[in-house]
Amino acid sequence: MTSGSIWKKAQKLLSETAKKIQFDPLLLSMLSEPDRIVEVSLPLKTDDGSIKIFKGFRVQHNNIRGPYKGGLRFHPSVNIDEVKTLAFWMTMKNAVVDVPFGGGKGGITVDPKLLSAKELEQLTRIFTQKISPIISPDLDVPAPDINTNGQIMSWISDEFGKYLKLNNSSRKTDENFIRAVVTGKPLSEGGSEGRIEATGLGGAYALEAVLKHLKMDPKNLTVAVQGFGNVGSNVTKYLWELGFKVVAVADVGGGFYLAEGIKDFDSIEKKFREVGDFRGIGETVDSQQILELPVDILVPAAIEEVITRKNAYNIRARIILEMANGPTDFEADKILCNKGVIIIPDILANSGGVATSFFEWYQNINDEKWTRQKVLKKLKTKMEKAVEDVIRIAAENKASLREAAYILALKRLQSQWIKSREKIAQA
Ligand code: NAD
Repeated sequence: MTSGSIWKKAQKLLSETAKKIQFDPLLLSMLSEPDRIVEVSLPLKTDDGSIKIFKGFRVQHNNIRGPYKGGLRFHPSVNIDEVKTLAFWMTMKNAVVDVPFGGGKGGITVDPKLLSAKELEQLTRIFTQKISPIISPDLDVPAPDINTNGQIMSWISDEFGKYLKLNNSSRKTDENFIRAVVTGKPLSEGGSEGRIEATGLGGAYALEAVLKHLKMDPKNLTVAVQGFGNVGSNVTKYLWELGFKVVAVADVGGGFYLAEGIKDFDSIEKKFREVGDFRGIGETVDSQQILELPVDILVPAAIEEVITRKNAYNIRARIILEMANGPTDFEADKILCNKGVIIIPDILANSGGVATSFFEWYQNINDEKWTRQKVLKKLKTKMEKAVEDVIRIAAENKASLREAAYILALKRLQSQWIKSREKIAQA
């Protein structure tokens, strides 16, 4: 999935951005490495009685702005370099969308498709037992990411509750506290209305806001989406509903290109869910070819580093909406910017997920239940404000949207850091 140097590239972007603003060198050093890295060994007794050992990680990058927050990924290519990078991106993203969280990320190096439901639950519970001492609603709050979902989050919160009881914690019977240890839970177990679709819908709101600024009409702009998981399917749905012309979709198994655009989203989704792929809809394209199609808007919504210097010159889209984390690597970003492509960066485009995770966490902590309408209204406001802030900084600094989003994040982190140091000095 990623080359070993993804973390180095992230560090490079951090130090390049810091150079552009008056950034404290001590804070830069703090952000250049995670606060804490936890690696755990996960021995699992499989259904056939044999024992397999998996490796799990939780990286807590920075908590200047609040509890560490970020997803858990179950994927065979999960490695420490990737998790560190994803945790760093969470610190930046949470600052851009202005939620009171720091950055964290975790995962297990496993292909969950090769596990039975029982094994998956068991592995999740063993992982939770190992990380329970370092997670909590006021310390570190995991969420879903690739191959994890509400069911997995509810196993985590259940296991965390057992950990509190075993350790005779004063919060052991506080249901709201136990639930708030993770976000992205099912509605029946303390999840928030709107959380499942929040990342995709937030991306659609961000794109709409950028197009409004560019005075471009969304109607009939052509779109290709790579990835049809939680994020890819939802962003496809909402872009189609907003009047964009969705002409291509692909996931890991392949996809389609239909020049006239899909007629409705539901039939595409139904076909995909029933058959498991997009066979029979338009021309067949694979998940790499989709990136180079003649479209106005390209939406990578699968994994990182799919756009590199190898294919950047072939990209024909005018706008890239980065719904995946880190889909464009460092060199490709420069090539595309030089070509005049507008990239709505991941830490802005997909921040609707964590914004709504914040709403979920807030509702749990305060024993509230918001309507879907209220959640989506707040999500729209958050996304529009983040886009407005990033566009303003881009104009002030003659910077790309990615550079501007990084500048915004670093400035917010620095001002919070200064405030906290002043408080500590006065204490
Ligand atoms: P998911 O597991 O629901 O879906 C992943 C999708 O990616 C699937 O359609 C899969 O087929 C596709 N895919 C996997 N490997 C691929 C490959 N090599 N080429 C093409 N497609 C491939 O995961 P998700 O939650 O939709 O996450 C997708 C991306 O969005 C990830 O980068 C994730 O970090 C990011 N993200 C997710 C959230 C969230 O709320 N779930 C929030 C912010 C960012």
